[in-house]
Amino acid sequence: MSKEIANKLGTSAKQVNVNPRSVTNVSLARGISSTTPTQSGETGNAGYSPLTPITAVKNKLDPADTELKTLIDNNQSWAEAVTKAEPTYFKEMALKQEPKILWIGCSDSRVPAEQVVQLGPGEIFVHRNIANVVHHTDMNCLSVLQYAVEVLKVQHIVVCGHYHCGGVKASLGTTQFGLIDNWLRTIKDVYREHQQELDSMEDQKARERRLVELNVVNSAMNVASTTIVQNAWQKGQPLTVHGWAHNIEDGLINKLNLTLKDNSSLEKVYRLF
Ligand SMILES: [Zn+2]
Repeated sequence: MSKEIANKLGTSAKQVNVNPRSVTNVSLARGISSTTPTQSGETGNAGYSPLTPITAVKNKLDPADTELKTLIDNNQSWAEAVTKAEPTYFKEMALKQEPKILWIGCSDSRVPAEQVVQLGPGEIFVHRNIANVVHHTDMNCLSVLQYAVEVLKVQHIVVCGHYHCGGVKASLGTTQFGLIDNWLRTIKDVYREHQQELDSMEDQKARERRLVELNVVNSAMNVASTTIVQNAWQKGQPLTVHGWAHNIEDGLINKLNLTLKDNSSLEKVYRLF
């Protein structure tokens, strides 16, 4: 990771509020029918319609619903409502996808990519894993990246971590969690690289937050270091790599001071042209 970029983080990072967008075609499929049943059996989501961006959904799965009937019912209500609002919506959606964004985020259930930025189906190509780690040998992640950049020709790659990330928290400790410890090893490497700074922080929560940000930077730099992204840049393909951190406590995205449009920020040994 470029320490110069890593050092720019923190105080220079500014918070941006991603406001719900006004009604558009892409917001259609976010809606849930106002007749969607809730756990208590009451009619939920009052005020929401297929045309209204969802700002919060409190529906929870009833553990007694072992056949997941509620989910299928929800799906049918949603599909019917969307079709009623825009009869050709799904037929048009089936023809192609042209997302402009690749989102690399954490698997954490509290950071759903489309919902936190209020975009709908067809807008974001998504790859999620525990702690949004990008390994240069992860064929899963690299395959997603190649398809997104070379076939879909996305214009933005967003690496979005989040505060209160269990994976990052675990990486700061010495407790064994099994196989996953091997996955999280990369975050320990990030910690080691910035140990002096992190150890100087007395507040454990501040240390965790900082490591969340540094892990985002490391993953974003790993994305930028791939042959896939550098070849795109060399060909003049418009492609920007962004580093963000989502705050579960207030729902806001912290836009880190990391925006890469070429390979000039990479250390020389990583540059491929
Ligand atoms: Zn996480």
